Amino acid sequence: MTVNDLIYRVVRPFGGLQLAKYLSRRHPRILMYHRIAARATEGAIDINQFRHQMQIIKRELNPVSLNELIIAQDQHNVPDNAVVITFDDGYSDFYDHAFPVLKEEGIPCTLFVTTGFVNGDIWLWPDRLQYCVDYSSKESICVPGEEHPLSLKGDRKIVWNALADHCLTLSNLEKINFIASVETELNVSPPALPPSEYEALDWNQIRDISRAGFEIGSHSVSHPVMTSLNDESLHHELIQSKADIENQIGYPVTSFCYPNGQPFDFDERVKAAVHEVGYKCALAAFPGRDTLGDRLAINRYPGSLSSSMFEKTIYGLSYLGLPSHV
Ligand SMILES: [Zn+2]
Repeated sequence: MTVNDLIYRVVRPFGGLQLAKYLSRRHPRILMYHRIAARATEGAIDINQFRHQMQIIKRELNPVSLNELIIAQDQHNVPDNAVVITFDDGYSDFYDHAFPVLKEEGIPCTLFVTTGFVNGDIWLWPDRLQYCVDYSSKESICVPGEEHPLSLKGDRKIVWNALADHCLTLSNLEKINFIASVETELNVSPPALPPSEYEALDWNQIRDISRAGFEIGSHSVSHPVMTSLNDESLHHELIQSKADIENQIGYPVTSFCYPNGQPFDFDERVKAAVHEVGYKCALAAFPGRDTLGDRLAINRYPGSLSSSMFEKTIYGLSYLGLPSHV
């Protein structure tokens, strides 16, 4: 148990969450979601849990859009207890589950879409790996870096994790080739388009979401590790995705969200390119004490969490527990 867990357990019954909220009121929290499902699955939170979270946010905090938060910071007028909701990737379950709840509760949201996924050109690679691992009838697979073949008879999540970890070390082309080799080794032929559990939003739905007043941002064309790209590919991912979305919604796209979003997934070269092609801000996938301190590396908290982690995040205990150097 961390010190933060201990404080949470001790202070919660005595109104400590409200004290934490007060102490952290100047710290905007930006939450990052990916998938919402009718029932919780691996990687997706339950719609009822999401609705409950949005109701708490509406009651206890001050939900604003990303754009409103940035303008407020420019005007030195960030509201207390500001919260921003974001969704990454562009799965169709956003439209089915999250969109109605957000509209009902009147909570703004920025949706970051991977345009190659929406165009039906690609699967998101973690899903493609998941499909191969789930549907293989092989007994084991050799994964680079693993001493022994990994068994597919036991927990297949271990196999997926090892394959995905290896993919994160590869360039985009190497990753495509590696996943093709996994498909061969596992003797699985994924369909051309992702099946319903991995389905993307379509442009009609995205236009609908945009017309409802939600911001659409870019999450690249093909969800690569941006630092692994040469300059030409880097610019293509940034410019093409921006242009595709703008053509569809008729508004300038000014926000970018780094695929994977960890500290090693973007660097000064990537940030300079993001700025150069016309984005006003870019979002990472990890928290920090000064959320908007770097507009090209804006911090976020994971939103798809247990209820205790969610409370720690939105009431500010997570912020109060962050080391001062992050
Ligand atoms: Zn993503």
